[in-house]
Amino acid sequence: MKRALQRIAAVLSVALLLSLSACSEPSSTESFPTGPYPETPLLVLGVDGLEWDVVLELVKRGDLPVLAGLMRRGVYGSLAVDRPTLSPVLWTTAATGHLAAEHGITGFAYRHKKKAKLFRSFDRRRPAFWNLLGMAGQRVATVGWWLTWPAEEVNGVMVSQANTITNSMRRDGMGISKGALFTGLQRQVWPPAMEARVLAVPARVESELDEHMERVLGRLPGDLPEVEAVLMRHCRWALRADETYRRVALDLLAADEGFDLLAVYFGGSDVLGHRFWRYAYPQQYKHPPTADMIEALGDVLHDYYRWLDTTLGELIAAGPANANVVVVSDHGMHAIRPRARFASADRIPALNSGGHSDAPDALLIAAGPSLPLGDGGLPENREQIVELGRLVDLAPSLLALRGLPYGLNMTGRPMPALLSASFTENFPLTSRSRWTSDDWRPSWTTPLVEESLQDDDSEQRLEQLRSLGYIK
Ligand SMILES: [Zn+2]
Repeated sequence: MKRALQRIAAVLSVALLLSLSACSEPSSTESFPTGPYPETPLLVLGVDGLEWDVVLELVKRGDLPVLAGLMRRGVYGSLAVDRPTLSPVLWTTAATGHLAAEHGITGFAYRHKKKAKLFRSFDRRRPAFWNLLGMAGQRVATVGWWLTWPAEEVNGVMVSQANTITNSMRRDGMGISKGALFTGLQRQVWPPAMEARVLAVPARVESELDEHMERVLGRLPGDLPEVEAVLMRHCRWALRADETYRRVALDLLAADEGFDLLAVYFGGSDVLGHRFWRYAYPQQYKHPPTADMIEALGDVLHDYYRWLDTTLGELIAAGPANANVVVVSDHGMHAIRPRARFASADRIPALNSGGHSDAPDALLIAAGPSLPLGDGGLPENREQIVELGRLVDLAPSLLALRGLPYGLNMTGRPMPALLSASFTENFPLTSRSRWTSDDWRPSWTTPLVEESLQDDDSEQRLEQLRSLGYIK
């Protein structure tokens, strides 16, 4: 009897301890840090599917001077990636420091009353770095980052990426793909005063798209065979989106609004990697393309990497001279379907020859005043690329570089390799128990957006886009 009472007492005291610790956990009373914060701004360049093997090959040839320069003077390595390797999931993981089960973005779409509904920004259940920086009074701009439509009321600027389903994608079995800015779609830009200027860009890019594609990929044969014509057609929207976001980001930097963090996303490396891996690396396939097509298209993937390197250089040059620069991909890329025939009866995605569903390592290259100084050398081979952490470590690392605490409830942690000793001496790593959604979700988002968008399912949005000639 006595022992039973003791046991009950022990259970009760454990329960009491648990409830006490549960009480002390919620953070609404936990004060937010007030600075001073590092003066060094942060430029984050997110590049979908950038693969180390391709980067190393081109860096050795001297073809990527900007990335090579960052590697020489800074830090580089790989990041482990969690599955599934779907863009909305991974870029939300990178932005929040949480995995999908926590942040709630589990794919492109979810089922609601037997219909597929696209995830939107307010479906994210955890704060992104742009929310947390804003709470600390830091100015932030994001351009084209995944799952940012409708644009959130950030302390700064948000230019959305609205993802969509087009009929041709559906016909080709592609489901949903990477998004863009669309003329006529509301709430893509925060603050609203910037909307007209930003939304004028995609129409201009569209009118110059053929010339732009030739600039990036070189002159291509006008009469491509059916397979190659399909592959090229399914790159156009990615190049259009990248060029749009490039111009918008350069415009923001030229306006010199003094951002503490500016993040830009590019998706073409993933799209061209899916489509043209077999042309860049024909020896990896049992049925390579014809010699003519290897000659014509064997370089388009590398051409895109070169364009990207130039673009990153433009953005870095347009930004503050003392910025820390972080280039990060969400996963790598490699050959898939090495024995397939890639017949003209096939459609995308069966025509894709590059893939990443097994979560090949992501890439990270970073340099700047707050980072350890590189030794000036470049790696000889892939074995010299060390693992710096996981993709989920990105958000806590960005917070640390901006002098902010990471959340102990995050899966990710700041990567020590990104922080120099002198930086952490001035700005020691700090943590906070957690951020609850009440702390960060803009008060207008839930009521206003749900009211105005409740009936706006993707079909309605698609109709709007079709009528504007953006999709067929
Ligand atoms: Zn992909």
